[in-house]
Amino acid sequence: MNSNDTDFLADWEQLSQIGRVEGTLGVDREAASAADGEQRRWFAELLRSRGFTVHRDEIGNLFGLLELVPGAPYVLTGSHLDSQPTAGRFDGAYGVLASAYACFRLADRLRNEAAPPVRNLAVVNWFNEEGSRFKPSLMGSGVFTGKLSLAEALETRDKKGTSVRAALDALEERGNFAALNVASYAEIHVQQGRSMEEGGIAIGLVDATWGARKYELRVRGEQSHSGSTLMTDRRDALLAAARLIVAARELVDEFPPGALHSACGEIQVYPNSPVVVASEASVLIDFRSENTEFLQEAARRFLTIAAEIAEQDRVEVEIAAEHSWERNPYTPQGVELARAVAQELGVTHDTVMTVAGHDSTNMKDVVPTVMLFVPSVEGRSHSVRELTSDADMLAGVRMLTEVVHRLASSQDL
Ligand SMILES: [Zn+2]
Repeated sequence: MNSNDTDFLADWEQLSQIGRVEGTLGVDREAASAADGEQRRWFAELLRSRGFTVHRDEIGNLFGLLELVPGAPYVLTGSHLDSQPTAGRFDGAYGVLASAYACFRLADRLRNEAAPPVRNLAVVNWFNEEGSRFKPSLMGSGVFTGKLSLAEALETRDKKGTSVRAALDALEERGNFAALNVASYAEIHVQQGRSMEEGGIAIGLVDATWGARKYELRVRGEQSHSGSTLMTDRRDALLAAARLIVAARELVDEFPPGALHSACGEIQVYPNSPVVVASEASVLIDFRSENTEFLQEAARRFLTIAAEIAEQDRVEVEIAAEHSWERNPYTPQGVELARAVAQELGVTHDTVMTVAGHDSTNMKDVVPTVMLFVPSVEGRSHSVRELTSDADMLAGVRMLTEVVHRLASSQDL
């Protein structure tokens, strides 16, 4: 192992201590939490110590810039440091540190090469990729790419009523940096699925993303006594919410095996009290498929069933928020560039699709983008049991370094 690798692993170990969930190897670093603030300061310091200038934009995206060619556009590389509650230490954070190390390794190399670079280097930690505390997910990259309004994002509130603006300001993590001219984007992430591990693939070349339909459904019934109210008089919001959750799961069986994923990951009930029929419930229902027609059909069927449930249980069901993206391809030349690098490095590789959304899902729609995966043990993710081996992490850093090198050395992408 060379000193670059040992330095990376030492920094990885330090980063993984921040927000550590006691008794596990996992972390709890939701967006703009105290632990997120701590890791952001740690990361900014790391970038500065390696000669990068640190900037924050108005939605709290954190950038480290290294100008090699005055005035030239930047190759941007990064991911997100924020996590789900009690989650894994790899999701997002691995990609941020790998990106930083790819740029650290390239800084001197690019300065000393016979053919000078044509791009500058920038590392990014996107704000609130996870969307667990503040919805929607992919918030920082959504604002950066103009898909989400800054004003709307800043006013988004968590369950306690704290806004994104207030939470970021409390950490002094909002700035006014705006002028980054991005030529191309590269991201590396843990797969969060098991196909690469099963196939013995070290590097995944992401060529497309599954589509997603996410609905926040608000159910309104009527509060009453859960013992004495006649069954026929009840308008039970929690019962209707339960039926919606089951319906989302049962829909999966109407499609070919594996074609549709569905879930409810969050439910809120009011007043959530032992002897009270709930007057309000909200559920977050999530459908994913690589097949656009299946996804549209699932969404259509689900909303029809929701209307039937509303009628049957005499409640109102409304869509309070929705967040969708379509199955679409990553930059084909980016996939080919990554394939050439993998062949040159002699690492096992194959194209893979991403089921989860990533910041690159946003970035690929505005600049040429390369998205890479490293394996996840047993596909475990959004869990403290998430795991990727040191060897796989280091192979990923080497791969990303060469991808960024190519992006910085030529104007082809
Ligand atoms: Zn992630």
